[in-house]
Amino acid sequence: MANSASVDKAHQVLRQDYFDDVRGLADDVLAWWDRDQDADRDGLVEYLDESVDGAGRVIYTGQAIECLRYSEHDDAYLDEMGELPSAKDGMPWSQLAYFAFRADVIEHLESLGLDVNDPKRVCSACSERSVDESGDCETLECAGVAAE
Ligand SMILES: [Zn+2]
Repeated sequence: MANSASVDKAHQVLRQDYFDDVRGLADDVLAWWDRDQDADRDGLVEYLDESVDGAGRVIYTGQAIECLRYSEHDDAYLDEMGELPSAKDGMPWSQLAYFAFRADVIEHLESLGLDVNDPKRVCSACSERSVDESGDCETLECAGVAAE
């Protein structure tokens, strides 16, 4: 019979591993956004979607199941699509994990200061992530100064 302390420890390790992947992908998306100055909001979402779609967390069944176990948004598919996916071809782990992983990455990006619905650039003058699509910095101290 399993020792509950060792089971807790195992879950802790797997949860940590999952959120390492969430952080890793969020860091990658943020770095891409800061590098590609020509990208707009649609480009950012496209890059995010493709990255999530290509992630092992979503592709491999075992990892997809782990994703759903540890995700903070295991019901994201239902939230986004309004109904659960068909299971006629087997359990759609990857489809469920796609939305869960994506929602965790989006939440982590928010904690890094990037809102994917309204992504801002870092201002070259005040170094805040506060430059909108029109190129204006929203920081009071330097309103009107454009980013590089
Ligand atoms: Zn500024």
